[in-house]
Amino acid sequence: MRKYILLLLSLASVLTGWAQAPTPAAFLGYRLGSQFTPSYRVVDYFKAVAASVPNVKVEQYGSTYEGRPLITATIASAENFAKLEQIRQQSYDLSFAKGSQAAGQPVIVWLSYNVHGNEAVSSEAAMKTLYELVNNGNAQTQQWLKNVVVIMDPCLNPDGRDRYVNFYNATRNRRPSVDVYAREHNEPWPGGRPNHYYFDLNRDWAWQSQQESQQRLTKYNQWMPQVHVDFHEQEINAPYYFAPAAEPFHDAITPWQRELQQMIGKNNAKYFDKEGWLYFTKERFDLFYPSYGDTYPMYNGALGMTFEQGGSGRAGIAVLKNDGDTLTLSDRIDHHFTTGMSTIEVAADNAEKIMQEYARFFKDAKSNPQGAYKAYVVKAAGNPEKLNTLADLLRKNQISFGYGASVSTAAGFNYYNGKTENFTIDKEDLVINAYQPRSTMLRVLFEPVSKLSDSLTYDITAWALPYAYGLPTYALKQAVTAASDSPYIKNNKPLAAQMPYAYLAQWNSVRDAKFLAQLLQHNVKVRFSETSFSASGKAFPAGTLIVTRNGNASAIKDFDNFITTQANKFRIQLDAVSSGFVEKGMDFGSDKIRFIKPPKVVMLAGDNVSSLAIGEVWHYMEQQLDYPVTIVQESNADDIKWQEVDVLILPNGEYRSLSDKPMAETIKNWVKKGGKLIAMEYAAAQVAALDWGIKVKKDEEDKDAGPDAPDYTDLKAYANRERESVKQFIPGAIYRVDLDTTHPLAFGYSPRYYTLKIDSRLYEFISSDGWNVGVIKKDNYLSGFVGAETRKRIKDGVIFGVKEMGSGQVVLMADNPLFRSFWENGKLLFANAVFFVGE
Ligand SMILES: [Zn+2]
Repeated sequence: MRKYILLLLSLASVLTGWAQAPTPAAFLGYRLGSQFTPSYRVVDYFKAVAASVPNVKVEQYGSTYEGRPLITATIASAENFAKLEQIRQQSYDLSFAKGSQAAGQPVIVWLSYNVHGNEAVSSEAAMKTLYELVNNGNAQTQQWLKNVVVIMDPCLNPDGRDRYVNFYNATRNRRPSVDVYAREHNEPWPGGRPNHYYFDLNRDWAWQSQQESQQRLTKYNQWMPQVHVDFHEQEINAPYYFAPAAEPFHDAITPWQRELQQMIGKNNAKYFDKEGWLYFTKERFDLFYPSYGDTYPMYNGALGMTFEQGGSGRAGIAVLKNDGDTLTLSDRIDHHFTTGMSTIEVAADNAEKIMQEYARFFKDAKSNPQGAYKAYVVKAAGNPEKLNTLADLLRKNQISFGYGASVSTAAGFNYYNGKTENFTIDKEDLVINAYQPRSTMLRVLFEPVSKLSDSLTYDITAWALPYAYGLPTYALKQAVTAASDSPYIKNNKPLAAQMPYAYLAQWNSVRDAKFLAQLLQHNVKVRFSETSFSASGKAFPAGTLIVTRNGNASAIKDFDNFITTQANKFRIQLDAVSSGFVEKGMDFGSDKIRFIKPPKVVMLAGDNVSSLAIGEVWHYMEQQLDYPVTIVQESNADDIKWQEVDVLILPNGEYRSLSDKPMAETIKNWVKKGGKLIAMEYAAAQVAALDWGIKVKKDEEDKDAGPDAPDYTDLKAYANRERESVKQFIPGAIYRVDLDTTHPLAFGYSPRYYTLKIDSRLYEFISSDGWNVGVIKKDNYLSGFVGAETRKRIKDGVIFGVKEMGSGQVVLMADNPLFRSFWENGKLLFANAVFFVGE
């Protein structure tokens, strides 16, 4: 009988032209919420739906580092589906202030799920959402689709998701344990939140350092949606969070964007009230840092929102909360499903107004850019390689720029000394005019001081690109138009010598480090100069790489061709000299010309080590330098063959190997025999706790208050407790660091370096057998939020130092120069530590 009815139904759908998509339960073989779905099954479901209904398109836009597909599904009414490309083009054009809003132009709503892999409800909710969007029986969604095109990305981070799902499915009880301390509610290190390289993809929208972000943003920027929702999860006891977001808002966010957040928040609240579900708004999740899934769309004219369900990697299928209620996966699905639907509803009901405001955002951006500055000039300053790296970032964010200007002088704010002064504009300089559709994002990325409406923020508070890229820059109050679209390229001089005595490459960007890494792996013998020198009439700074014919030509097949091919690959300029006799400085046979032994690099990872910090080094070594690093689980540290190891990297973390006496002795003896330890952030603090001659700078005593004077600052209002706690806080502020550029750790740099301080520690000057290579003096604070008490402390100390021990070194890095892989100017410093220091 049942079969018969099914047959009739399918016959009816054929006759009426209706097609019906499989429900998630019918396709998966289990009810949504009864177990977690691996990412490939989520993809299968999306494809099955697209195959069974005519108005859904599934496209693969990329793949993860571990090879999993990344997809979007585009869902539209039949009428809109027939002209999808036209709709996309119209939206894209509006974002470049071209054309005008078409009659009945639908809003593009982009829904992003599971950017944090262990916030695993999201992809489950995505399947339910997709089904209801294509369900012919759902009159509401069919009505909304007349005004809205929905693009769903069901899983932004499948590598992380599967790390979590595999863990959970492997450890869960047959009947889920609701005890929060049960194994199934406690993921092992590193957890499923980040991607393969342990990067937080929800911090990577603007920088696009990760493959997943690059591929997704390429697609996103082709559509330029008007509404973007990023679905997340938070700790299990927290009620649901939705828009409006918390202060601080960046003042670049428009009144309309605030208003639309309110409208959607209120609509969500209506549905939550009806069910009696708890929620909160206006707290915790702010809108400031530009690289989130909510702020990035905001600064690009859309409405960006973060929705947070309680759960994440701890909740499993069911877990007991503090209030005695059980939180189930089904509840979590319902909540995310509800806010997603509610958002689509508001977008559909306000389509015309949303499109109008969207068009206006870019028209205003082009004709009347926000902020005090109307142009930026980034000086090439003899470093086209660094300038190219910045140009790549601007391109990724669709910010237009050019080179040179019709005027040769201008007045502008100098980022490096804080003064407004006259300067010259050269043909090679990168010129960005703020009168362009992307001027809001441009302003946010370049403003010297970020305006904070409140000190309680969730993330770093400073990121100005001139500091992050270490490029001298001027911000101008008047517009300047670039003279040319393409960089001014000086003709490469033909190499001075046939069969040269040596090839030289100056050392000033991470591209040079990539070049070096390739040479070393091809067994090329490379040296670097410890001092500056002149050869063939040209000056070369310290750090210049020297590849002599001697020792190489016989070992490397087709030596000259090989070297030049490698140099061209990394777009770096080679010089050739016909003699080892230099005009000024040391000859190439001098002992000031140091041989670089290809180092064997080991890094320790473990339960108490920051996975983000491990990932930053891992990604840098493997994906950027392409140089091998052996990662050792700390519990296996006893097995390390120390005599083989040249460099040991300890990223931010707490290491048993340093607190455990015998192991710390082993490391110390290895250093003394010539090993090089790179200790970063908390690992540096751990080293400082040993008697190795490195010390953390202690708080200064409060000199004003005598011993008996009562300290009224101890009287704190309870209601201010959150604000009081931030006095000790440094969520990422920029400080100027004075570098000793005669030390190999600082080769390739100018004496002024800008650091992003996240860790409030500073170290005492190293007084013997060591070098204070990067120091923060008094008043070196530049930008970003620093708590009052911390600010007093950050002065007169070491940030980057080298302590000699026997024939080895400890390289101290109080700050992480590889932070989120966006602090571009720090990357060479790390290469110096790995390849140059101690050679
Ligand atoms: Zn999240």
